[in-house]
Amino acid sequence: MDCLFCKIAAGEIPSRKVYEDDQILAFYDIEPQAPVHFLVIPKKHISSVGGITPENSQIVAHIYEVIAKLSHDLKLENGFRVVTNCGEEAGQSVPHLHFHVLAGRSLAWPPG
Ligand code: 5GP
Ligand code: ZN
Repeated sequence: MDCLFCKIAAGEIPSRKVYEDDQILAFYDIEPQAPVHFLVIPKKHISSVGGITPENSQIVAHIYEVIAKLSHDLKLENGFRVVTNCGEEAGQSVPHLHFHVLAGRSLAWPPG
């Protein structure tokens, strides 16, 4: 499949890794929107939140466990945001499930 994040997960396209295990990869966003901005993806392709099912949803719990650990390791105690855009109108540009983790500045709420 011609999917950018599948290629990054497979190491075919290089990335600046934050964390990796057999199921997931975290890597810095190429166009950071905050002083800290990385993405967490399942290595196995899921298109978006809309593609989460009872069969694959365990990966989401694992992703959040790792985000919690990384928030401590990277000392994001002042606050951080986890965002996943789903579909065109929400601004999803890569159709492979990914969680943005943003930190290091004050973040507006509600988002634009
Ligand atoms: P989305 O717009 O789908 O919510 O998020 C996709 C994100 O992937 C964007 O923030 C974009 O900057 C990032 N991105 C796109 N291509 C690459 C790439 O080749 N490498 C990395 N590290 N990030 C990418
Ligand atoms: Zn993919």
